[in-house]
Amino acid sequence: MAKKTSKVEARDSRETFVSIQTNLGEGENVEDMLKSLYELQKADSAIDNVVALRGELPEEVASLEKEISDMQEKLAENDESVTVMTEKIAKNKSDIVDCDTAIADFKKKMDAETNSLEFDAIKKEIENKELLKQIAQKNIDETRARIAEIKAENEDIKDRINVVNGDLDAKKKELEETVESTAKQEADLQKKRNSCSSKIDERILSAYERIRESKKNKLAVVKVYGQNACGGCFATIIPQTLIDIDSRKKLVVCENCGRIIVPDFDKPAPEAPETQE
Ligand SMILES: [Zn+2]
Repeated sequence: MAKKTSKVEARDSRETFVSIQTNLGEGENVEDMLKSLYELQKADSAIDNVVALRGELPEEVASLEKEISDMQEKLAENDESVTVMTEKIAKNKSDIVDCDTAIADFKKKMDAETNSLEFDAIKKEIENKELLKQIAQKNIDETRARIAEIKAENEDIKDRINVVNGDLDAKKKELEETVESTAKQEADLQKKRNSCSSKIDERILSAYERIRESKKNKLAVVKVYGQNACGGCFATIIPQTLIDIDSRKKLVVCENCGRIIVPDFDKPAPEAPETQE
């Protein structure tokens, strides 16, 4: 039975640059591929920056909108409470009128009453009604005070809504402008990224995407940092590897972080030494 071919192994979704590197022959196309990877990484980093630029704004707009809607809800709740309390005051007022009517009636009866027991009973009824009147009046006073508090609170809320509305308008405008000014930039970068990625082998591309996703700085392809450090993890690169990078003929992978280390394609290539073949 035949063993699995390396091609099947190569499609393994966990494939890394290292496993690709071992399968990759030296050839003229390596430099072009490295250059495409380099440009792809540049385009992706630029897109990341564009997205980050407006990244916070949509959230900020949503948060201000939420704050306003919460305050409007509170205003409506307060208005509802005031309506209920106003009805309560009307009820207490009407109770007082009823008490006054009853007291007037009792007083008439008392004037006509000759029986001292009956007289005392009526007097007691009047006292009860007076007490009920006092309670109703106390309710009215307390409710009025509470209504005044709520109305003052509503005024504060309305002031705050005005302020937040101002902030919201400004943020919305900023977001609109940012989206507008970055839309073309982003579309151009997207075009550039697509053109680069179309030139890169699918296996390498999928490893690129996976490594990029796994790194905090979203870099899968890096340059040499300083004289001899990996631009991704800053681990020291040994001299032979530096030579390999400069040769532009090998896919060099950082042993420490797994990123591809490429020459700086924005700088002219160093003079190639005379080949002695
Ligand atoms: Zn590294």
